[in-house]
Amino acid sequence: MLCLSMATTDTQRGRPMPLAEGDAACMRLVIEKTRAAIETGNWPFGACVARAGQPLAVAHNLVLETLDPTAHAEIVAIRQACGQLGSTDLTGCEIYTSSAPCPMCFSAIYWSGIRRIVYGAHAADYGVLGFEEFAVPPEIMAEIGGIPMEIEAGFMRDENRALFDHYLSKYGKVF
Ligand SMILES: [Zn+2]
Repeated sequence: MLCLSMATTDTQRGRPMPLAEGDAACMRLVIEKTRAAIETGNWPFGACVARAGQPLAVAHNLVLETLDPTAHAEIVAIRQACGQLGSTDLTGCEIYTSSAPCPMCFSAIYWSGIRRIVYGAHAADYGVLGFEEFAVPPEIMAEIGGIPMEIEAGFMRDENRALFDHYLSKYGKVF
């Protein structure tokens, strides 16, 4: 798998890359996957589950392709990562997403044991596609739920927002 061949550790020195470099590498995988989603007529959302900067699973939204309203990119990536590890426990992993996770995905992230989220576009950003409902930011979910979640918002936001423009120019609004 492509995602597995793209290590983000400094193998020559045998130690992890600095956090920001690993984050950028994983987010680039997300952007690449989201672009693939657009090319195949899927909604423009991607996600990557990684451990210590090492990608375990990269996925895009499959709602249309699988006729499954729960097949958001984060959910698909979590399922794949669990399969990779042979475990339902993703404690110690982090998740990278093209957009702020919705409440369903935030919950799935929490239940999987992941406690670090790095996301690109803000919840308000994907309103341009017509997704305007249920845009509760993960920061609010964490606050309301009293959940100790490390959240990095707006990471490579412009690159991720540009994917929405690409989608809009190709297909127009979703709703
Ligand atoms: Zn979601």
